[in-house]
Amino acid sequence: MTMVYDENNIFAKILRGEIPCHKVYEDDKTLAFMDIMPVAKGHTLVIPKCQAVELSDLPCEFACAVFKTAQKVMTAQRVVLGVQGITQMQLNHSDAGQSVFHYHMHLVPTHLSNIAKHESKMGDQDELAKLAEQLRTAIAE
Ligand code: 5GP
Repeated sequence: MTMVYDENNIFAKILRGEIPCHKVYEDDKTLAFMDIMPVAKGHTLVIPKCQAVELSDLPCEFACAVFKTAQKVMTAQRVVLGVQGITQMQLNHSDAGQSVFHYHMHLVPTHLSNIAKHESKMGDQDELAKLAEQLRTAIAE
């Protein structure tokens, strides 16, 4: 491990149900939910249900599970948002700009160069809730 895992990081709290999220998908090894400061409409995060700070800590079975969930989410993003471009992004270490120290994959609907980490303001909660619901439905279909 590159860094000691902090059980009180924000995504650990989301996994324990201590703080809410707009859930898109969940299975026994992963959770997908809306990024609270989306850089683009539909910006979604996928996290493993294990204690991994970053990629180098991630057991292969969880890496596989994260990618399987990401495939479901990106398919749903294309259906719901009518986009084809999806940027998969994942930062390792604060030197790379990582700000939450529980492994997470960003899936950002992308058109040309709208790539950035996140906005400085919160997204509209109603819109996030609606998008999460639409993506859940698309995954279930
Ligand atoms: P990083 O910069 O570590 O790659 O990405 C962290 C991401 O987590 C950012 O895009 C940020 O908007 C998102 N984020 C931070 N706190 C919360 C939160 O409490 N809930 C949700 N849903 N996303 C969060």
